[in-house]
Formats: sequence, C-alpha cells, structure tokens
Amino acid sequence: MIDLHTHTLFSDGELLPSELWRRAQVKGYRYLAITDHVDASNFEVVFTRLKTAALSLNRCGPPVLIPGLELTHLPPALIAPLASQARALGVPLIVVHGETLAEPVAPGTNRAAIEADIDILAHPGLITVEEAALARERNIFLELSARKGHGLANGHVARTALEVGASLLVNTDSHGPSDLITRQQAERIAKGAGLRDLAVQTLFTDAEALARRLAEL
Ligand SMILES: [Zn+2]
Ligand SMILES: [Zn+2]
Repeated sequence: MIDLHTHTLFSDGELLPSELWRRAQVKGYRYLAITDHVDASNFEVVFTRLKTAALSLNRCGPPVLIPGLELTHLPPALIAPLASQARALGVPLIVVHGETLAEPVAPGTNRAAIEADIDILAHPGLITVEEAALARERNIFLELSARKGHGLANGHVARTALEVGASLLVNTDSHGPSDLITRQQAERIAKGAGLRDLAVQTLFTDAEALARRLAEL
C-alpha cells in the first residue's frame, strides 16, 4: 500500500508518528506519508518534527516514511506563498486540502492549489475539467479519498481526471488506526469511483513513481 496523506497528533490525528508507522507496517504499507494540517503558524514546527520521525523510523522500515504537510483552509491567495516557504524549508511533499463536499473550503482553493508548487490536491470535490487539465500540465496528483465525506465526489474526480489524463491516487486521510486500509481495499475504492482495471493499474503505477521520487528528496 502507498498512502500519501495521513495525520498524527501533530495536528488532529490520534497517534504518534511511530504508532501510525507501526500500524501501517502491519497493514502491509510500503510508503507512508504523514501530512499534518498546517497554516503559517505551525508549518515549520510540524515539518521539523515529522522530519525527525522519518530520520529515525526510516532506519527500520518498511514502510518508508515521507514527511509532508497539508495546507489547510487557507484563503486561496495565501496558498502559493506558504507552499514556496515550505519548499524553501525542504518539504518534499505538499498536499492541499481541496474543495471537499464535506467542509466549507473556500471557493478558489482548487485552482490556487494547482497554480502553486504542490504535489497532491486532496479530495478536490467538484473540480472542473479546466482545473484537472492544469493539474495534468503541472504534474499534480488528484486524490480519491478513502475518508468518509471526502469520498463523496470520488466518482466525479475520477471521471474528470480520466477525461484530461491527470494522475490519480488513493489516499486514506487517516486520523486514527482504524482508517488505514490494505492495497486490496484501495483497489476497490478506485474501482468504486468508476475506474476500469487498466486505469486502476495506471493509478498505482503513478502513485508508486511519485512515492519513490518523494522518498529520494
Ligand atoms: Zn484532519
Ligand atoms: Zn488530510
């Protein structure tokens, strides 16, 4: 399993990185990114902590732990500046909390995220074809979410991404131990979003390539 969007008690998750990592190991994970919620107030401290966790746990893997951040509920105009500050700090993986149907995320967040230097647009809700095409051009992944509520638009996200050839991945957005899933469950979620077998295979190949690239940074 490759999962590039999870949370620990460094934001609103329930577990320490070490326990989330151990629980993921038991589920057969090969790559686990921890991407705690951040804004301008906490991105430096959260990244420093996750980087420390990765440096120690990665001596004992798998899974490979990738430290990341999820820029969350920012006014859209603040997304690009914070992403560039995070890059300057050496953050390999930047996720943006997209326009999920489950929360009042500011309209314009999807577009601002895709125009910024980020890697994954999480649960992008009713993303437009134009936005998905721009994501494709900029090599930004669109997320199918295993999370309750955020997964409501998975079918729309899958169809829109396929229409323009944008890359997809399945993430859990785990906040607690029971949110982690197996590779088989991830495949079922991708199929449930309407992807055919070949598109499911492509999704996992693309996700693996992204995880490998991030792990090297
Ligand atoms: Zn959260
Ligand atoms: Zn999240």
